[in-house]
Amino acid sequence: MIELKDVEKVYDVGKMKIQALKNINMKIHDGDIYGIIGFSGAGKSTLIRCINALEKPTKGSVVIDGDNLTLKKEKELNQIRKQIGMIFQSFHLLKSRTVAENIAFPLNGSSMSKQEKEKRVDELLKLVELEDKKNIYPSQLSGGQKQRVAIARALANHPKILLCDEATSALDPKTTRVILQLLKKINQELNITIVLITHEMEVIKEICDKVAVMENGKIVEQGNLLDIIQNPQVDITKHFLTMSSNFEQVMQVVKATLAQTDFSNKRLVRLHYNGTTTSQALISNIVKKFQIDASILYGNIEYIQSQPLGDLLVVLQGEVTIIEEVLQYVRNQNIQIEVIAL
Ligand code: ADP
Repeated sequence: MIELKDVEKVYDVGKMKIQALKNINMKIHDGDIYGIIGFSGAGKSTLIRCINALEKPTKGSVVIDGDNLTLKKEKELNQIRKQIGMIFQSFHLLKSRTVAENIAFPLNGSSMSKQEKEKRVDELLKLVELEDKKNIYPSQLSGGQKQRVAIARALANHPKILLCDEATSALDPKTTRVILQLLKKINQELNITIVLITHEMEVIKEICDKVAVMENGKIVEQGNLLDIIQNPQVDITKHFLTMSSNFEQVMQVVKATLAQTDFSNKRLVRLHYNGTTTSQALISNIVKKFQIDASILYGNIEYIQSQPLGDLLVVLQGEVTIIEEVLQYVRNQNIQIEVIAL
């Protein structure tokens, strides 16, 4: 387990003091995929650098599996750092070394024989599916392939923890997904705890189980991802969630499109799925049961930890009193439905 207790970090910049971390308390359990989200300057990099002891907290402690890093000497820290791999947005590969040499780099200075190192590199190449790129140079790889090499290198020493610093921020959305799925596979198959920092809620939603939201050096909200998505407490979390959905944009287009429509026997409704049980057949049930028309204008349902979350925008058409009954029927199924004023 990684435990941060009352961690503070102050940088001295000339006469100025910059408080990068304030009263950070968090527990990251073995096997977690823990996401830390915040805007630039929130303190994420400082926090992650305290976990691998690249930064020393000004106050408080960082404890990994019972070892208090803040009390360790440099030599002991070097041993502990071997248990922690790290990957970065800009990959940090050595340009003049081949893929295999980059992956083998952390093994230099170990007691392993040449054959053992080669065997380990081959295992890692297989894990990241780059066997065919073994002898080429980073400049000949795509961004996603470079990050795979960086992941393989980070895992060379069999770490228990993998830290990811904006690891997918330089990648296109499709490659981002592939890399995140690779991280998930590594977490599940090798039982490696993953701590990632990002400014994108999509990344958190894709693979994390837990999340901490940072603002101005503080953790303003943390917990189970599903709980936080269902019930965000602070504005910044709500902001990140809104940014990761295109619902607001869609609403503007829908409102403009429907501006001239006669709504005397119609209602535009938003069905909000919030992880509660839902019937896929809700809309067709409504149509059959109440003999009304329902046209879906937009739908975006994501499954987070196997729970449906998201929105449907539907125009219901029929007698107004019947539509009122429909609204009540839906609410009775524990699904939020709101009538949107046009
Ligand atoms: P994030 O990763 O969320 O962008 P950082 O941890 O990099 O945030 O930065 C938090 C704050 O600490 C910022 O105000 C940043 O300017 C400052 N900071 C970070 N590293 C240093 C440093 N080495 N020296 C001085 N100030 C720093």
